[in-house]
Amino acid sequence: MYGIRPELLDEFPEQYYCLEDYEKVAAKWCPGCGDHAVLGNIQKLCRDEQLNPAKTVFVSGIGCSSRFPHYMKTYGFHGLHGRAFPVASGIKWRRPDLNVFVITGDGDCCSIGAGAWIHAIRYNIDMTVMLFNNEIYGLTKNQTSPTSRIGTVSSTTPLGSVLPPIHPIQTTLGVSNVSFVAQTVDWNPPHLYATLKAAYKHKGFSFIHILQRCPKFQSGLVDQYTGNKENLYLLTGNDGVELSDSMKASFKNKVEHNANDIYAARTLAEQPDRIYLGVFYRNPEARRYDEYGASNLGFTVDQKISALNKELDKFAV
Ligand code: SF4
Repeated sequence: MYGIRPELLDEFPEQYYCLEDYEKVAAKWCPGCGDHAVLGNIQKLCRDEQLNPAKTVFVSGIGCSSRFPHYMKTYGFHGLHGRAFPVASGIKWRRPDLNVFVITGDGDCCSIGAGAWIHAIRYNIDMTVMLFNNEIYGLTKNQTSPTSRIGTVSSTTPLGSVLPPIHPIQTTLGVSNVSFVAQTVDWNPPHLYATLKAAYKHKGFSFIHILQRCPKFQSGLVDQYTGNKENLYLLTGNDGVELSDSMKASFKNKVEHNANDIYAARTLAEQPDRIYLGVFYRNPEARRYDEYGASNLGFTVDQKISALNKELDKFAV
């Protein structure tokens, strides 16, 4: 007798999603742009976690990386500059059953979107946030961004920028009710994938700072860190990113870190010349605003309409 034994059929899912189920069109980023690597690893994560494309949504602001939703065969919202966080918060608030991902760049998040960013951290709504930091405005062709280093020569600072940059990890760790903060790089696929996975698994606002190569306008920016150079450190210890032993061994520099200790995390973030890869901080107990949303409190549609009408009746004349 050939075929699958009937008793095994129960173990097979009704539908299995392949990589092709998440791939839409070829991305139009420049050759060598770090965004390609993140896209590939996110599609792999979606496949490995078997995320239903009809229940997954990617939300972005404006910038090169914010083209991301166009390349995913899921739902997407390519929104206004700096406004990915309120849109994503509204989606998760109303539809807690959806997998929500946010794509934002350094200009999008740390400049025009900074207010929304700070409050999204505090609200701690369950979403996976990827900040692509290439330290430049790439889409609008080479302007100094809030994360550009002192001395950055661009079309807006032709003699070199003069202000110290915003450090996204430091900033995020400084906000009350912060829940998950990690850092990775686009040129190390195993670490990038493991970090995306850890962030996705965390319930709450999972913030990943991704050092992203922009060969078009910031060529050479990360040369001091690629190839496992001296300044790159792998964070090891409890509640970090899960890596194979061989992957860990491939890092020359390692630092033992307790990811539950916010003071230790802030101390690491303040060291300017070192890049730490892994989970800086994780607090699964932080309050999540989406847990207090009407959908999660179990109100029926009729109850919601009745409550809304009651409120509106207060303004009746
Ligand atoms: Fe990527 Fe830079 Fe090209 Fe934008 S300009 S697509 S960030 S390489």
